[in-house]
Amino acid sequence: MSNLIDGKAVSAAVLEECRKEVAALKARGVTPGLAVVLVGEDPASQVYVGSKVRTCGDLGIYSRKIELPTETTQEELLRVVATLNADPAIDGILVQSPPPPHIDEEAVIRAISPAKDVDGFHPENVAKLALEDASGFVPCTPAGCMRLLREAGVETRGANVVVIGRSMIVGKPMALLLMAKGADATVTVAHSRSRDLAGICRQADILVAAVGRPEMVKADWVKEGAVVIDVGINRVEDASRKSGFRLTGDVAFDEVAPKCKAITPVPGGVGPMTIAMLMKNTIVAAGRR
Ligand code: NAD
Repeated sequence: MSNLIDGKAVSAAVLEECRKEVAALKARGVTPGLAVVLVGEDPASQVYVGSKVRTCGDLGIYSRKIELPTETTQEELLRVVATLNADPAIDGILVQSPPPPHIDEEAVIRAISPAKDVDGFHPENVAKLALEDASGFVPCTPAGCMRLLREAGVETRGANVVVIGRSMIVGKPMALLLMAKGADATVTVAHSRSRDLAGICRQADILVAAVGRPEMVKADWVKEGAVVIDVGINRVEDASRKSGFRLTGDVAFDEVAPKCKAITPVPGGVGPMTIAMLMKNTIVAAGRR
């Protein structure tokens, strides 16, 4: 389909840039290093961590996977983070979300050195994003969405953008990036308490869905000619698949796509961009060593 925004192709181009940047850093004697900490055995988290580590290997980035048992205490996890903060071979640290319920995720994020917070979740990096201070790290998923819009030639200046979802990982940073100078969009953030969500969405020139509800956004929520970015990754049961499930977005793709000027698929849209932007952030961190 011609209106498809191909996240696989764009992420491949970003990873190609990364490969060159890694080579240039290595020529200076710097090997970028990423530590990925996984607590527990969440299957989706294991898949994400696996592909992050694999992508590092592919680009020549040093990676360290630290797998901790579910019963790891908060103190033990904080000690691991402190060790990584002090390790000169590690430029980026991420603790895969969600941790087991007894872990205070906020406290763990605050414990990561802001200079190694390649997820961009530390309060210092959140503040820098709000201040439009480019010395911070931008969360990978919204950074990937911005790159997709740019590569697809989508004009954000003056556009009415609706972001559904206000999480610190996607919705809120996405809104900040879109309203920042240069992007210059008019941004509406909708969430679970919004009234007349369909009506709000129908105003959007660009609609970003980051909710976590399979195929919530229907065709009659979307204006003719709109651009739709589907961040959602939802597992829905599918007996015809070997795995027993398939992945679907927050947008009812089959009915929405024909109305759109451009749309991202799931999978193969925003997902691959998230990892690519994580590699970018790690390289930037290494460059500042
Ligand atoms: P979250 O649960 O933290 O936030 C969901 C947001 O959606 C909340 O702000 C909530 O107010 C809003 N919401 C919930 N129900 C709603 C409703 N009925 N109407 C309107 N708004 C509603 O989730 P998140 O971490 O922001 O992730 C959102 C989705 O994006 C999930 O499917 C997640 O798997 C996916 N995700 C994808 C990537 C990627 O790489 N593509 C990265 C992160 C998250």
